[in-house]
Amino acid sequence: MTATGNQEIIQVRNLVKRYGDFEAVRGISFEVKEGEIFGLLGPNGAGKSTTLEIMETLRSKTSGEVIIDGISVDENPQGIKRIIGVQLQTSGFYPGLTLTESIRLFNGLYNTSVDPKELLSRVNLEDKARNRFRDLSGGQQQRFAIAITLINRPKVVFLDEPTTGLDPQARRNLWELIRDIRQQGTTVILTTHYMDEAEVLCDRVAIMDGGRIIAIDPPALMIDQLMASGFTPEKEVRGASLEDVFIRLTGHALREA
Ligand code: ADP
Repeated sequence: MTATGNQEIIQVRNLVKRYGDFEAVRGISFEVKEGEIFGLLGPNGAGKSTTLEIMETLRSKTSGEVIIDGISVDENPQGIKRIIGVQLQTSGFYPGLTLTESIRLFNGLYNTSVDPKELLSRVNLEDKARNRFRDLSGGQQQRFAIAITLINRPKVVFLDEPTTGLDPQARRNLWELIRDIRQQGTTVILTTHYMDEAEVLCDRVAIMDGGRIIAIDPPALMIDQLMASGFTPEKEVRGASLEDVFIRLTGHALREA
């Protein structure tokens, strides 16, 4: 898995966020390359959401610099909003609207004129155009939320725990969708608590803890470094996982109402 471009599309320098006396983000710096799938990992409270929301222009920073595609959040937050897509929580949609109606609503909000059918086909939901949001399965709702992030043809999309709560089939289906989005030239930044997901999906990950980035590298390199340090795994690492068994037995087909 390699990134399609090597140019940096995001630069974060010495980013600090204080809530009162508490420093939630403690001077972090990192870059994201164009065409990368970049993972932001870390235990709860590490500062991931704060960092993401500052990049998304949804939260103010205390100090430091964030530049996306050459645009500084300080100088032109509106310019950044135009070139990014931010995944809404599924609770952010009107449950009673059909998918087509929802897309029309978002077209109005973003001043876009995307064809609902075309957008739905990008996430394999074209046959659900007339279904209400609330009648979709969890995986379909997440796919729809990702479709909406694409409505303004963004250069960068931010996905916050896109597969939380999904079954293994739906999770793998979303991985395919995320790879497909990257394939079309969009840079993806995601958070996840699933390390297997970060390992198979992300070109590079940053691990945050206590407001700092404590490691940043491709997952395979991090694992090699751990092994080189003389690490012995708690349990024997086998060539396949229980999830591989599960998928072999139950298949890849999506289980959706
Ligand atoms: P993560 O997304 O990694 O779980 P967050 O960025 O949500 O971490 O939070 C980082 C730290 O900042 C946590 O200790 C959290 O309690 C604190 N925090 C987040 N938002 C606020 C806020 N609005 N006011 C005060 N403290 C906050």
